[in-house]
Amino acid sequence: MNIKLTATLPRMCCRVSKPFVTLVVLGIATLLSIPARAAEPATAPAATTTNAVADCFYCSKSERLTKMMIEACELPYSTVYLFRNQFFAGRCIVAFKGHKRELYELTPAERAGFMDDVARVAGALGQLFHPDKINYAIFGDEVSHVHFHVVPKYRGSSEWNRPFPLNTASKKILSDAEYKDLVARLKSQLAAPTVPTPRPNH
Ligand SMILES: [Zn+2]
Repeated sequence: MNIKLTATLPRMCCRVSKPFVTLVVLGIATLLSIPARAAEPATAPAATTTNAVADCFYCSKSERLTKMMIEACELPYSTVYLFRNQFFAGRCIVAFKGHKRELYELTPAERAGFMDDVARVAGALGQLFHPDKINYAIFGDEVSHVHFHVVPKYRGSSEWNRPFPLNTASKKILSDAEYKDLVARLKSQLAAPTVPTPRPNH
């Protein structure tokens, strides 16, 4: 901004030294030219608190969690759970180890490792169940601990071509023996060194 402030200086300033006037003018001009500072976010991301962890069933591993899912195994950055409602055969949850609320709270190494775990689980489900597509979802409105729902989808199912619901209208509950067998097969597949062959697009 080019403003000739010297012209507006009152007469009484005429006796002031030239360098001083120059400094004052430069100072005012600088102030006028400073761009507005970017507005700070209204609220910073919520810090992890003791209460948040205690209220989180992935951290407390409370009965609410065990009623909904069965712990299958641990991977480097996550814990893998089999969803008890097997309406979508093979449905799993991959929960990050440690209470983080948002993906951006993970370090780049944690995010990469976590995504590797998710892909590994999806690959195992692909090998075991041969779904037509696998859906991935993070919700977390109520339980904010970062976790993926990994949901094999099948053509002809009532939820094909639409987002799967958290709770399906009809549920498929297995026997304890069937859950045990499924968890064993999942763990065995996750331990397999082979990487599934990518399926062609269709
Ligand atoms: Zn948690």
